[in-house]
Amino acid sequence: MNNYDQLWQRILGDLESTFNEETYQDVFEPIKSTHKFVNGHIYVLVQSEFIKNRINRFYLTKINELATKYQGEPIRFKFVTEQELLPEETLVSPERNLNLKYRPGNLNATYTFDNFVVGKSNMFAFRMAMKVADQPGAVANPLYIFGDVGLGKTHLMQSIGNYILDQDVSKKILYVKADGFIEDFANLLKREKMDDFNHKYREIDVLLVDDIQIMGGATRTQMEFFKLFDYLYQQNKQIVITSDKPASELKNIMTRLTSRFEVGLTVDIQVPDLEHRIEILKRKLATESSDIHDIPNNVLEFIASSFVTNIRELEGALKRVLFYCLTNNLDLTVESTAEALEPLLRTKRKSDSLNENNYDKIQSVVSDFYGISLEDLIGKKRHSKYVVPRHIAMYLIKSRYNIPYKTIGGLFGDRDHSTVLAACEKIDNDIKQDPSLKLAIDTILKKIDFLSKN
Ligand code: ADP
Ligand code: MG
Repeated sequence: MNNYDQLWQRILGDLESTFNEETYQDVFEPIKSTHKFVNGHIYVLVQSEFIKNRINRFYLTKINELATKYQGEPIRFKFVTEQELLPEETLVSPERNLNLKYRPGNLNATYTFDNFVVGKSNMFAFRMAMKVADQPGAVANPLYIFGDVGLGKTHLMQSIGNYILDQDVSKKILYVKADGFIEDFANLLKREKMDDFNHKYREIDVLLVDDIQIMGGATRTQMEFFKLFDYLYQQNKQIVITSDKPASELKNIMTRLTSRFEVGLTVDIQVPDLEHRIEILKRKLATESSDIHDIPNNVLEFIASSFVTNIRELEGALKRVLFYCLTNNLDLTVESTAEALEPLLRTKRKSDSLNENNYDKIQSVVSDFYGISLEDLIGKKRHSKYVVPRHIAMYLIKSRYNIPYKTIGGLFGDRDHSTVLAACEKIDNDIKQDPSLKLAIDTILKKIDFLSKN
């Protein structure tokens, strides 16, 4: 690691504790190293125009402050995309270059089928992704991958792109997050650069659109995306889409689009079981550039049973344990692991119990408001006297905490996903038409907020 990389790592450490986890993961975590130093500027390669703009707008000042502080003299960072470097350097070879994390089309070279650990929860998705990568445009178009956050959708989607590029370096792949697409489209409107836009999005062989749910509500963008989709689809160009929910449940996305998504093949990724999680940790360990490659099984089990629903968190926990034991010169045991993970586990416990209390609170405020008992709110009685408050409580929990429908069903006597979904949609619609319902819900919300503060 050169001095500038070290400086960047140090700044990253500060950023991680300053910004929320999501910002950190989206914006900074992928940037592992610096690119070069020229004229008092440290150049850092970022994956997209969108990320670059975000950094420049919100974080650059802070980064430069930290850099100058640590360096002891003025030094500035410059964040650039691959495209901007192109004229001076020809580093964009589609061939795999082990030193470069990003390949053309925004592809992250580290996401491959090889390092995707397959288990029951992702087997079908994995197989279909392989097939699609093997015969783009011919097997399933679009391929629609959905699942909760941190379960490997982006990894699998990018593996498809990397595989296709490995087979044929002349193939043009484009990976874009839905918010990047929104941003590009907004810029197009502002600057009327239709040609650039079309060049970027139409002259390609494979389009990978990540987190499509973000497009919800952006109507004009959706219309443009619809045109693009049809254009590529008609030429048999492979399209892959990921989302946090099935197409039929996407909010505020036009049916014209969602019905297109359903034309191809939909696959989902579920939460991995314990064995699978341990396997992921083992694989991670083998590739981690640390000296420790051997961890006792009980330690792996401890980590894998503490982080259940999100593989990103699972990996983060492993890294933390390795780092902690290494810097404190401790043996890797369950005790030292527990010690290393304590801060993470503490916040997890806190937010879990806080949320559980809050779900209870919503249920009891709603049942109070309608003068029914908590048992009846949760129970099976079908009289509208009970059904309406029940639906309202489900709706409020969903809109406040956005936990999966299935989980909410669990809070209401084990009702299934579709029952809760239907309830939430009904209330969402009714509010718009029924002012007295809206008033009731506003009052309930005020009461919940009051109780939370006191
Ligand atoms: P999502 O897009 O669903 O939120 P990601 O694809 O970003 O999730 O995955 C989160 C992290 O977990 C990434 O670092 C990814 O490499 C890793 N990961 C997810 N699934 C697997 C898997 N099956 N095998 C190995 N690593 C995985
Ligand atoms: Mg993702």
